[in-house]
Amino acid sequence: MSKRFIPYGRQWITDEDIEAVVDVLRSDWITQGPTVESFEGAFAEYCGARYAVAVANGTAALHLAALAAEFDTTDEVITSPVTFVASANCILYAGANPVLADINEENICIDPDRVAERITPSTRGVIPIHFAGHPCDMPRLWEIAKEHGLILIEDAAHALGASYSWEGQTFKVGSCAHSHMTTFSFHPVKHITSGEGGMITTNDEYIFKKLLLFRSHGITREPDLIGNVEGPWYYEMKALGFNYRITDIQCALGLSQMKRLDTFISRRRKIAQTYNKAFENIEELILPQESTWANSSWHLYVIQFRTLDRLDVFNRLREKGLGVNVHYIPIYRHPFYRKSLSHHYGDFPVAERYYARVLTLPLFPLMKKDDISYVVDMVRETVQELMV
Ligand SMILES: *Cc1c(COP(=O)(O)O)cnc(C)c1O
Repeated sequence: MSKRFIPYGRQWITDEDIEAVVDVLRSDWITQGPTVESFEGAFAEYCGARYAVAVANGTAALHLAALAAEFDTTDEVITSPVTFVASANCILYAGANPVLADINEENICIDPDRVAERITPSTRGVIPIHFAGHPCDMPRLWEIAKEHGLILIEDAAHALGASYSWEGQTFKVGSCAHSHMTTFSFHPVKHITSGEGGMITTNDEYIFKKLLLFRSHGITREPDLIGNVEGPWYYEMKALGFNYRITDIQCALGLSQMKRLDTFISRRRKIAQTYNKAFENIEELILPQESTWANSSWHLYVIQFRTLDRLDVFNRLREKGLGVNVHYIPIYRHPFYRKSLSHHYGDFPVAERYYARVLTLPLFPLMKKDDISYVVDMVRETVQELMV
């Protein structure tokens, strides 16, 4: 058998990226320096948001967003069951209570109708996830949020560079045109990487200031925020914050990667189109859909099997060197959440059906033509082997 192994995702680092990092290492500031702000500025501009706050990782971004939302112990915050655990964990970090609302079958994103059904007098927020890079129905979620006075936080860890159209206009994910905040991750499998890293975008100055405060221990030196400045050394801790800062070293990498972001996304899109075309005649497969109003940034390429046993396919593809994966084990199935949530599996028929048949295929910009055709051949071959 082949010794080849193709992971489901990975970074693409160039010599130019490495030079950018080395330049920072040779400079006076390796943390809390000017490269953090340069990265934030370029990111905010790319997304079309007024503010961007860079942080240590995507989970820290979610945690700070939940703190800035001022969720409280009696509050309920609605999120999707089909996501990475961090999307729900951040609600608990802030002391509030996660509530799950089922996904819709077309784009695996949270279903706004199911969100509406879960709203109670205690509901204070919604955290939708742009699953696999496909945007959620933000205009509809925004309408629900406004109607009920909810804070809307987009988990866009999958969706840097994605966009959606509504009423003749196009909106980039991260522009916060239909939300209060949007969070991102720069883990190596995501669209751009800084090793570890994250970002929050917002258009709200008050939220922006809270994010800055919570990012660095709740400490401020801003004269407007301080009662009595006792001397040049003086600062005040105004809230219980954290050290969620990111280094200039990481931001240099992130900033350098941003220059190639559009290339990364167009390559992801091309590979997804190649898969779509190669698999369109295989009845057994349910392929990912892109809504007419959506422009996915294709973080993941996720297929579903109509009849085949997913475990059999998974094992065979792994043997053939494909780093296939499953995104995700639904939140309510994890032992921790089984104890702490009042939900039952039966409450999420769409998520359950999806989880039973889903498989993620390799997709990353650095894939060679040869890798792509190998994936196509192995999937075709394996489906054929198992169908007889
Ligand atoms: C990657 C990811 C996160 C967490 O990001 P980290 O940078 O790994 O902390 C959060 N939500 C989703 C949906 C993710 O995919």
